Amino acid sequence: MAESSLNALVEALRRLPGVGIKSAQRMAFHLLQHDRDGALRLAQALRDAVDKVGHCQRCHTFSEQPVCETCRDPQRDARLLCVVESPADQAALERTGSYHGLYFVLLGRLSPLDGVGARDIGVAELLERAGDGVVEEVILATSFTAEGEATAHLLAQALRERGLKVTRLARGVPAGSELEYVDLSTIAHALVERR
Ligand code: ZN
Repeated sequence: MAESSLNALVEALRRLPGVGIKSAQRMAFHLLQHDRDGALRLAQALRDAVDKVGHCQRCHTFSEQPVCETCRDPQRDARLLCVVESPADQAALERTGSYHGLYFVLLGRLSPLDGVGARDIGVAELLERAGDGVVEEVILATSFTAEGEATAHLLAQALRERGLKVTRLARGVPAGSELEYVDLSTIAHALVERR
């Protein structure tokens, strides 16, 4: 394809997860043909989000404030710290309505083949966060993929060496699963049955 604004738009849309060339073209054509206002709102929303959304200093989830709303919420049980791989997984746990502790978001999981190590996912920051003297139990809610399990294993060892109680979401969440795609009642059950 020749260089053009349309091609640039299609290429930009293709960067989204799960979007191939056909879908990207369909989205681009739709926006230009039927929804130019929507396209401008999308452009503005993207710019605002990229400018304003950073990471919470305490839990690393997305936040426009230095410390996110969840970490600042006095109703939350600060003795429980749930470790998840992504803000999407955090949102999945929040939707169950059955967890009232705090979170730590790794922003990834160990993946030696892709060069993602302990430093990249913030293990040192997690150990510091969990050692604040208030946290009594760390719940590992990394995914049930091979990499998520390896991550949970490494974290469990490091946390236990520091005398912290560590639990893992119960099996029941299917092996190979990304938490964000698991249904809510399954996650809620896995949370209650953690060990
Ligand atoms: Zn936070």
